[in-house]
Amino acid sequence: MEAAAIRKAHRGATFVRADLHIHTFGEGGSYDVQDASMTPEGVVRTAIQKNLHVIAITDHNSTGNVRRAIAAAQGARLLVVPAVELSSPGGHFLVYAQGAEDVERIVARLDFSEDCHHRPGWAHFPPESPGPRGPS
Ligand SMILES: [Zn+2]
Repeated sequence: MEAAAIRKAHRGATFVRADLHIHTFGEGGSYDVQDASMTPEGVVRTAIQKNLHVIAITDHNSTGNVRRAIAAAQGARLLVVPAVELSSPGGHFLVYAQGAEDVERIVARLDFSEDCHHRPGWAHFPPESPGPRGPS
């Protein structure tokens, strides 16, 4: 269905401009981002300039820049979804949460095969871990 047809068939849905897979630069960001303008504040500024309504910071195995992005978006018409992109032997997967503390709690329970905050590596739950749905 084309976008115009979707809008015409509107049944209460709201359409928003969103980018739910963004990596950031710096210590709390992704090891593979070289563009120094991609700080959490820079990403938020660009998202606002591009008229996005929702973004997610999905750095590789790191949530270090999520709170900075949320803070940078305070007072703006932009929702920052706390998230992380986890590396695994089967590929990368994106995890979204309601609050920064939720995604930070998930990452804190993981073991990493190497220092994958700065280079590729795997994230996994330790054998004794109850996993992502374990006791809080
Ligand atoms: Zn990615």
